[in-house]
Amino acid sequence: MKKCKYCQTEIDKKAKICPQCHKSQANPFFTALRIILGIFIVFIGIGVIAGIGSNSEEKDEDKCYITLEEFNKIENGMTYDQVKDIVGCEGTVNSDTEIMGSKMTIYSWYGKDGISNANVNIQDNKLINKTQIGLK
Ligand SMILES: [Zn+2]
Repeated sequence: MKKCKYCQTEIDKKAKICPQCHKSQANPFFTALRIILGIFIVFIGIGVIAGIGSNSEEKDEDKCYITLEEFNKIENGMTYDQVKDIVGCEGTVNSDTEIMGSKMTIYSWYGKDGISNANVNIQDNKLINKTQIGLK
């Protein structure tokens, strides 16, 4: 047995409506939660649709790529920051190793076609090697 939330009459545990005052015994918290959840799902749906639209737009604008001209400006002895300034954006860290206190990081950038690419090998914040494939 439980008590009606409204008139305090003892009613059956499973009763959904109080036989005394005819008020619903549904937990208002869960009712509210169900409504919020419903709204939330609708918003996710809108978000996904809006997300697909904006993502395809951003890709062309924000895409950073390296050109052969930029690659040719990169010289041995440069710091990663200098290389980053030439290319105009952060490279992708391909490998990051530390051997006998010497830190070696390989950064890469893709060319405009998304296939051609450039790699630079930075050791102790100095460029020691650069390679590129198919840059234009
Ligand atoms: Zn009642």
